[in-house]
Amino acid sequence: MAETYVEINLSALSHNARVLTEKYNDYDYLIGVVKADAYGHGYEAAKALHRGGVGYFAVSSMEEAARFREVLPDVPLLMLQPIELERLNEAYEMKLTLAIGDREYLHRFIVLSKNYYFKVHLQVDTGFNRLGFKDRSELGAAFDALTAAGHTVEGVYQHFATAGIFDPHFDEQVRRFSELVSALDLKKIEMVHMGSGVSLLGHEKIPLANCARMGMVMYGYNVSPSSYGGGLKNRLRTLRDRYFQKKYRLSPIIRDVELDLIPAMTLKSRVIALKKVRKGEYVGYDCLYRADEDITVAVLPVGYNNGIGQKNLGRMVEIGGRLYPVIGAVGMNMSIVKVDETVKVYDEAILLGGRITLGMFSRSADMTLAEALLSVGKNNERIYIDSEGEKIWR
Ligand SMILES: *Cc1c(COP(=O)(O)O)cnc(C)c1O
Repeated sequence: MAETYVEINLSALSHNARVLTEKYNDYDYLIGVVKADAYGHGYEAAKALHRGGVGYFAVSSMEEAARFREVLPDVPLLMLQPIELERLNEAYEMKLTLAIGDREYLHRFIVLSKNYYFKVHLQVDTGFNRLGFKDRSELGAAFDALTAAGHTVEGVYQHFATAGIFDPHFDEQVRRFSELVSALDLKKIEMVHMGSGVSLLGHEKIPLANCARMGMVMYGYNVSPSSYGGGLKNRLRTLRDRYFQKKYRLSPIIRDVELDLIPAMTLKSRVIALKKVRKGEYVGYDCLYRADEDITVAVLPVGYNNGIGQKNLGRMVEIGGRLYPVIGAVGMNMSIVKVDETVKVYDEAILLGGRITLGMFSRSADMTLAEALLSVGKNNERIYIDSEGEKIWR
């Protein structure tokens, strides 16, 4: 087995799914976003999420859809991006729900889909300027054309460009959404969804929406906005926010949502060597670290080849329950850690997970949370553990 690998805890994923579907049961549907190889967890993760109560999923590409279908052949699956229409037959065989958000594309779809039946979600663009109809009458015409052609418009949705934490753009998008979907009879459309995890946790339910999409949060990361800490400066920030909230009539923000989530991914490695370094000696590439006393260092066979990034802005690893700093630059396949006498060769080291939160990890690597998660998940061998079924496999 590889010395460095990611462990995916499937029972944690089922648990998170249960927590979220219970907490947000005022939504009729929650869509689990499992694009990008289920955020680096692999499609076994989708099965665990499904077991925990997520009943609808979404991916980006046909290749992802195919891998999803290997584990969940019949669960509804929405494509977040327009598929190549030459592949309509494949999409039909895979029972995919398609997203349509463009007039030209719609017309080609209507012509090519004559011998098929599809469920479709209409995409609406309210200010992201990526995918979706921006025009109210085009949206209404799309509904009519699809219905006339025998397809079912099952959903309508948009995507937020911002988290809506004191920015008027979020509320503007909500307003614009209502305006655009007034072209549709929403009683005839089963699913109306607007946001992702951040808006689900950080905002009150928008009355129009009966469905929300969620990614990061299902994998165990609480993406709700947090309160400012104590102190005068933070009290002033709170007052300033309240002022802007009133002045621009921004929708309220829900902070510090309590959710009992368990991060599902752990990146593990092992100590492969220990070395004494004398006071004054340098460690690693470019002599970035100089020992200011006699120290012991441990070598871990994990580097930027394992998706941890090359930067070291205060990276820590956990060995035997204690935290130790990575010193010097991160190498392609190795890292050097300043340890103490308690650490032995072959001890397990945790680079992400355990006491190392994704926040800590991503800050030390100068990545965003999602980027860090994907990078680690996609660049390592995976093992799956499942305490509910007591299974471990690769
Ligand atoms: C990725 C994605 C999501 C999930 O976002 P999270 O921030 O991970 O919750 C939701 N909707 C769309 C359209 C997406 O592309």
